[in-house]
Amino acid sequence: MCISVQYAPIDSLKPWDADRQVITLPDHLTGAVSLRALRAVLLKLAIPQPESGAVCWCGERIRLLDYVAQQQRSSELVTEQMKVIRHGA
Ligand SMILES: [Zn+2]
Repeated sequence: MCISVQYAPIDSLKPWDADRQVITLPDHLTGAVSLRALRAVLLKLAIPQPESGAVCWCGERIRLLDYVAQQQRSSELVTEQMKVIRHGA
């Protein structure tokens, strides 16, 4: 099962849920910062990360699309996310 990512308020989050293979990031983080946080959690799980983006233990790229869907606060943020996705394509 692949790792998935969700967002939650920082006071209630559990960064890694091994049963569900879900990484939870604080919901106030924005594009590049949330990607860094995601990579930090993955590295703690001993999953080697490439120079950019984030990958699952199986080598598949993890995209932060959930974040875009949940928090379309500004077009700038979406552009940032698109850059992250394109960069890894
Ligand atoms: Zn996977």
